[in-house]
Amino acid sequence: MLTGIHLLVTYKCNLECDHCFLYASPRAQGTMTLPQIRHVLEESRKIDSVEWIYFEGGEPLLFYPSLLEGVRLAHDMGFKTGIVTNAYGAISDDDAEAWLRPLAELGIAYLSISDDSFHYGEGDSPARRAVAAAHRLGIPTAPICIEKPFVEALPGEGQAKGSPVIGGGAMFRGRAVEKLTTGLPRKPWDGLTQCPYEDLISPSRVHVDCYGHVHLCQGLSMGNMWQRPLSVLARNYHVDAHPICGPLSNGGPAQLARQYQVSLQGKYVDECHFCFLVRRALVDRFAEYLAPRQVYGLDD
Ligand code: SF4
Repeated sequence: MLTGIHLLVTYKCNLECDHCFLYASPRAQGTMTLPQIRHVLEESRKIDSVEWIYFEGGEPLLFYPSLLEGVRLAHDMGFKTGIVTNAYGAISDDDAEAWLRPLAELGIAYLSISDDSFHYGEGDSPARRAVAAAHRLGIPTAPICIEKPFVEALPGEGQAKGSPVIGGGAMFRGRAVEKLTTGLPRKPWDGLTQCPYEDLISPSRVHVDCYGHVHLCQGLSMGNMWQRPLSVLARNYHVDAHPICGPLSNGGPAQLARQYQVSLQGKYVDECHFCFLVRRALVDRFAEYLAPRQVYGLDD
């Protein structure tokens, strides 16, 4: 049951983090226009179960006027709203309040602020200033902290299945596959038999972008909402009818590779690492469902 629609307002970001699963960067293309934002909100209103609208990126505060207008429209339609940001504009306490006060006045319900070593170093930072300003302004907030991957425990050190536990919180998708997997312990591909993080049978939230893709996981699209309305896509979605989600749901990335004879036998850090590489190998074959190419690090 869909309760949240997350708008990827832009793929552009002022930063270019190693763990970014969307390959966001200052050079990335693809930003939603206000008419597109309006259209997504109108479609969201047709799905009775949707309560939350999130504005994300990339960095959504790069397009501040459109973001404010989007939040205002979503509120007027009765949605709760959230934003995910790296708060880059909070270059002093006063600046932080100036950026956040209009959002507080609009009644923003949640602000997630990326604050970790990928975004900022130790000590004072825009993220920490923004968290403090959000508290002063009464905006519910919490930092998102993702650290470089590290091995928490090796086989035989207590965990049930005897496989290494990797800490840090990074997801091995997108740029993280390229930048963060070197040196980490790996598991055989044929043991990666489930999707551990997304409910592909009954998703509770999807991400939509300016190209119309409705992401169930980054780069795994339910369909294109510029071709078929979001409310229709959501209503008609059935996991077994989806050429990628079906095998993923039935046997994880290993089944996806088997079903489409993707020869990537080897070892991988986790399910997402293997899933991302199998999906990337299938992008040309399933262009409607594995898109946009830029989130696979593929140039057009
Ligand atoms: S296994 Fe694949 S679909 Fe599931 S969360 Fe990981 S990358 Fe996404």
